[in-house]
Amino acid sequence: MNVEIATPARKYSIEDVISCTAPGVMGNFQVLAGHTALISELSAGEVKIQMQDKTQYYAVSGGFLEVLDNRVLLLLEAAEPAEEINTDRATEAQERAKKRLETRSPDTDMIRAEAALSRAANRLKVAGRASSS
Ligand code: ATP
Repeated sequence: MNVEIATPARKYSIEDVISCTAPGVMGNFQVLAGHTALISELSAGEVKIQMQDKTQYYAVSGGFLEVLDNRVLLLLEAAEPAEEINTDRATEAQERAKKRLETRSPDTDMIRAEAALSRAANRLKVAGRASSS
């Protein structure tokens, strides 16, 4: 089975995949080789891709996943392999968002700040997988 992850910034193609676990809006689900055709909406979270000899993790934004003919296609706003996540950048984004939420000025877009906080926290969580994969 092949997995393709397409974002406006980059495209990742991963071959010989045994299993792909993705954050569906109704919960995590796993796709194995030979899976029936499927389209699902994804939440932000973690994608786990298992191959014979290694496991890769990606931090992902929300988007869509399609399974067709032994190919899994993920269309996402953003995706980063765990090893490529810049933890300094994510920590700064997390601090910025926390400060905005604490200040609670009338100019603060709370929903935007909460979304930024959750993106940063997700990146830091997935980055922690890099050494264990
Ligand atoms: P920041 O405030 O640091 O820009 P953000 O959550 O607003 O973070 P996004 O809009 O989600 O960033 O992503 C913009 C682009 O930057 C995407 O291509 C995403 O993959 C990349 N990106 C964002 N944060 C990181 C990070 N910590 N490490 C690597 N790539 C990142």
